[in-house]
Amino acid sequence: MTIKVIIAGPRGKMGREAIQMVENTAHFELVACLDRKNSGKTMDKNIPVYEDPDKCFSEVKADVLVDVTTPEVGFKHTEAALRHGIRPVVGTSGFTPEQISTLSELAASKNIGCIIAPNFAVGAVLLMQFAKMAAKYFPDVEIIEKHHDQKLDAPSGTAMKTLELIKETRTAKTQGHPNEKETLPGARGGESEGVRIHSVRLPGLVAHEEVLFGGNGQLLTIKHDSMNRQSFMEGIKLCIDEVMDMDKLVYGLENLLNLNN
Ligand code: NAP
Repeated sequence: MTIKVIIAGPRGKMGREAIQMVENTAHFELVACLDRKNSGKTMDKNIPVYEDPDKCFSEVKADVLVDVTTPEVGFKHTEAALRHGIRPVVGTSGFTPEQISTLSELAASKNIGCIIAPNFAVGAVLLMQFAKMAAKYFPDVEIIEKHHDQKLDAPSGTAMKTLELIKETRTAKTQGHPNEKETLPGARGGESEGVRIHSVRLPGLVAHEEVLFGGNGQLLTIKHDSMNRQSFMEGIKLCIDEVMDMDKLVYGLENLLNLNN
């Protein structure tokens, strides 16, 4: 069966890579793009471009929306796609827990799949799982995430997801010295239940994360680097296939991987 795909954010770094991946996958077909300009124009191979998601989703027969845009607009696209019975695969990071729960309810009410994945790189998903395992034994932990300087949200969706998973096994505690004082505000990073997250933004970086666990006389570091955006495409491909057989929202690529065998 051919899966008909709409891509939102086609001029972006992820969008351009996703278009190539869809075009190079025999059982996927690119049927339209959602952009914030060029409405009414067509791309190569006569692919129509829309600015209005409702118009796009009602005029084009599609199975899946891949959204790689910005948090504000990505939420609107995802919500509109679900209303139109199109299954979203969302790479856009920065959705709030409230937005995810709104989309979850909408997907359930429509009985269709939706995947929101803060990170489509399998290695990053494994890093998060390993961090969750380690946090049970190493409750002193800090996360350093590094991204290119055009990234809009901080901390990254992956760092927030890592934090969420760490909290599932870590015993909550305050870290560092009780009398610790920042002489430069923000020097100790963001904080949640004692865990610190540091966001680095520099040109030249793509997407990198390190989770550092400290213990008595030992340090455990778990690290993942995405060198380019191709690292995310296998995950998007898997999600496009899987979302077709799902009837609810799933948050996180780890839920689609068989991690127990
Ligand atoms: P990017 O290069 O800035 O691309 C974003 C694109 O969205 C831009 O082309 C932007 O248009 C477009 N856009 C803005 N408003 C829009 C609208 N109303 N309709 C359609 N498109 C619109 O960023 P990127 O690096 O590709 O990343 C895109 C998103 O994916 C970000 O949220 C990023 O954090 C996320 N991401 C996720 C993963 C993952 O594995 N889940 C990996 C990497 C990135 P303009 O060019 O006109 O501004």
